[in-house]
Amino acid sequence: MARTGNDPVAVIGLGRFGTALALELVRNGTEVLAIDSQSKIVQGLTRQIPHVITADSTDIEALRQLGLPEFQRAVVAIGTDIQASIFTTSLLADMGIPDIWAKAINGRHGDILARVGAHHIVAPENDMGERVAHLLSGRVLEYVEIDTDFAIIKTKPPGDIVGVPLREARVRKRYGVTIVAVKPQATIPTGEPRFTDTTPDTVLSYGDLILVQGTIENIERFAAAE
Ligand code: ADP
Repeated sequence: MARTGNDPVAVIGLGRFGTALALELVRNGTEVLAIDSQSKIVQGLTRQIPHVITADSTDIEALRQLGLPEFQRAVVAIGTDIQASIFTTSLLADMGIPDIWAKAINGRHGDILARVGAHHIVAPENDMGERVAHLLSGRVLEYVEIDTDFAIIKTKPPGDIVGVPLREARVRKRYGVTIVAVKPQATIPTGEPRFTDTTPDTVLSYGDLILVQGTIENIERFAAAE
């Protein structure tokens, strides 16, 4: 079967993260099998999630009966109970599920999940903490970490690159970052301004919003420039 973005997804563990994930998938029209060991949690979600079931995901027989081996994608969203999270992930890996995502509550947990067969590790609390640290500076309006050392931010241009074409501003040479898109500050109400790709001829103004990519170190230097 060819994989599509709409293949059903098994979401195991319906705490805050798992529930938000399952509900968003349902909203997007993706078929979801949602599982939690607590019947009270499951009962609370039956209206919003069509297939939500009480089961212990560390029980291989229960997983088989629910048809888990047929799934192409599964998310282990159990965090606090590390043993259940690791055990569930390894059972799914043994079943040969090709795309397993697992939530980690810290770095060591993530390493173990990867070792027992998770293909992707997500650490929402950790990632959000790092993100908020960057947003707190005030100059960075959005922060997306692409890799451990690389990020894209939304910010406003520092004064030394405003008013001249980007080719003359020598942003890459001075800061080691690339300005990939710009959304002009709306001065005349001519419809909603939008982000467009920059060109060497783009001239930035104070108050424009820009998307900037580069290593985290260089991006921070850029964002701190006046
Ligand atoms: P969050 O921080 O996102 O709220 P938690 O780790 O607190 O995440 O919640 C995880 C959920 O996983 C809980 O609702 C819990 O009942 C469920 N859970 C824990 N162990 C199992 C298991 N063995 N099988 C199925 N669900 C489980």
